[in-house]
Amino acid sequence: MSDPFATGWGVGPVPPGPGGAASPRLLLRRLRQALAAPGDGQQRLDQIVTLIAHSMAAEVCSVYLLRGQDTLQLSATEGLKPEAVHEARLKIGEGLVGVIARDGRPVVTAKAREHPEFRYLPETGEERYSSFLGVPIQKLGRTMGVLVVQNERPLNYSEEESEALALVAMVIAEMAEAGTLLPGAVGEDGQPSREAIHIMGQGAADGVAIGPVYLHEPKLLLPNPIAEDPAHERARLEEALGRLRSDIDAMLDDEDIADKGEHREVLETYRMFANDRGWVRKLHEYIVSGLTAEAAVDAARTEARAKLRGASDSYLRERFDDMDDIAQRLMRRLITPDANAAMPEKGAILVARTLGPGEIMDYPRGTLGGIVLEEGAISSHAAIVARAMDVPLIVQAVGVTREAESGDPMIVNGDQGHIHIRPREDVVTAYEEKLSLRAQEKASFAALRDLPSMSTDGIEVKLYMNGGLAADLPSLNESGAEGVGLLRTELHFMLNKAMPTREEQARFYGHVLDKADGRLVNFRTLDIGSDKVLPYMKQPREENPALGWRAIRVGLDRPVVLRMQLQAMLRAAEGRPIRVMFPMVAALAEFEKARAMLLEEVEKVDAATRPTDLKIGAMLETPSLAFAQRRFFELTDFVSIGGNDLLQFFFAADRTNERTAGRYEVTHPAFLALIRMIVDRCGEAGTELSFCGEAAGRPLDALTLAAMGIRALSMRPSSIGPVKRALRAADLAALYGVAEEAEASGQRVRDALIQHCHESMVPI
Ligand code: PEP
Ligand code: MG
Repeated sequence: MSDPFATGWGVGPVPPGPGGAASPRLLLRRLRQALAAPGDGQQRLDQIVTLIAHSMAAEVCSVYLLRGQDTLQLSATEGLKPEAVHEARLKIGEGLVGVIARDGRPVVTAKAREHPEFRYLPETGEERYSSFLGVPIQKLGRTMGVLVVQNERPLNYSEEESEALALVAMVIAEMAEAGTLLPGAVGEDGQPSREAIHIMGQGAADGVAIGPVYLHEPKLLLPNPIAEDPAHERARLEEALGRLRSDIDAMLDDEDIADKGEHREVLETYRMFANDRGWVRKLHEYIVSGLTAEAAVDAARTEARAKLRGASDSYLRERFDDMDDIAQRLMRRLITPDANAAMPEKGAILVARTLGPGEIMDYPRGTLGGIVLEEGAISSHAAIVARAMDVPLIVQAVGVTREAESGDPMIVNGDQGHIHIRPREDVVTAYEEKLSLRAQEKASFAALRDLPSMSTDGIEVKLYMNGGLAADLPSLNESGAEGVGLLRTELHFMLNKAMPTREEQARFYGHVLDKADGRLVNFRTLDIGSDKVLPYMKQPREENPALGWRAIRVGLDRPVVLRMQLQAMLRAAEGRPIRVMFPMVAALAEFEKARAMLLEEVEKVDAATRPTDLKIGAMLETPSLAFAQRRFFELTDFVSIGGNDLLQFFFAADRTNERTAGRYEVTHPAFLALIRMIVDRCGEAGTELSFCGEAAGRPLDALTLAAMGIRALSMRPSSIGPVKRALRAADLAALYGVAEEAEASGQRVRDALIQHCHESMVPI
């Protein structure tokens, strides 16, 4: 053959050249050789199209790349008019090229002009070409462009040709992603850009943020997708697979992990996938075609994702997610992560699949502008930490870890759950406007700070803040809170790499009392267990951790830790008044024991530094306590309703499970009946009562609780302004009447309350 590239392979009915010389592997090898030479992005693209055209004996080969949001631009061509390069454009969905980009599937036809989607671009001179084969250039479901070959004669391109072209398209996508093949898609300003994407999740912490994406787990970029030596790549793949399998086996053997029911199932599934013959065969096939081991893994992922496109079967999707996860694990064993991820810059948006509260706190305070999670639930402790840190958080943002790239601009609207990745200019402008309005609103809340928190019918409701970190304390003055209604001491423990010593704890509690400067602080003893875990404290494996060995149960069974904490609190008081409350008390006897322990510790303190006033309280978080013996209410100095847990246990609805978390509301008549009963029982015994769950910070819920007789609410600091504003406009007696009437008439209480608030101009 005179032309080194002309192989005969690629002309439809004509079989591959002798000896399979025109195999995809050969094509990739030539591509690698060509791309090894120096050159800029355009030169490389030009080389690619020339090489493909020659190798496939095609008269035309063109690359169309996505520009801006929805425009495909002819970026390189062999065979079409050169002056059309960078000029010819199609919208996504327009013409055969646009349809390929839209659907993410190849189009092959021997008579392009007769195809219903054909659209003729006169500037390209393509009217002469009859046969058309186009494949999407995509990575993991994201379309980056389209690769096309055309011939004048009406040919039926073979499946093998289609597959070979798809393989090259994958290489182009990998190279564009790794930045070794520019231009990627380019914006109007000539800068690389990818399409804007909008994702809807669930707002879990209010607020709006605009900032660059920071991936909790950095993506793995492939430096060179084309292999030099397939045998070497196969060996690498086998070695990495071997390590992956033995790591999974080791995890399954580790009793600490493996006995946790669900976790074990996940690991078993992973083991099954890691040994899946079909998958491993596919990987080997890609390597035989000329890809490196890591590119083969990625190609298999992209292929699986393309197959899944449009599938609505949730089982299939879940299997795919598992498979994808295992593929990523394999990838991590093949390449080292991109080192771009040192630490996020200030204002960055943290994107992750899921995060525990401790992992959020690992990021230096004030660094994160927002957090977006693929999974997670609104009332999880991770969400509580985000709210405590006043960082907007969105959970259940399906697809975000796939779509967002490190450094991409992102808008997070935690109020409504909107996420904009690489937003358009007008969207950014609208959000900047929103941010400035929020700043104004904040100023108006600040103006309310020193005004009484009193309803229009003269009922005072004290508003406190929830806290847990030293950095929360400046909010005491800024928000105008009357004190700290709930100090979650476990957050301090979770921040530490090791159990804080008595001295360290005492120093922290002393600091809190100093900053409170005489205002009330309810120190809650350690509430560990459920989704709050201390890495240095061994927790037993439990089927239902929320119902398990947690909070006061641990404290009473392991009194050393609880006593040490109580001693630290008493030491920190240095004679000042102090209030201590115990979490998750379910029975009078537990409270009696914990109280006795505290009183014993008080006895041990020198009379000179003993607190002048000690108040001992309990969190009411289990329905059983509402029905406790009268003595419970008489013995407690104060009771604080932990609405998050009380709601979860009252309705038997896991607060961390997105399917159940938002299902039942505080304004449900059954829950209101329980609240009224607690109010009455505390009233009879003369016990102070407050409410410190998340609902206290939502104006409508807060007003309803106040209308039911609760006179103290504790919430995150940023909610104090909105709740006070609502309270100062509301008539609590009228609200009580509305709730009662709705209940009697069978109307949904929440709807009636909302309607009433709208009609009487109460800003909820
Ligand atoms: C609650 O359960 O309402 C509460 C305040 O405690 P936590 O959210 O820390 O469990
Ligand atoms: Mg609780």
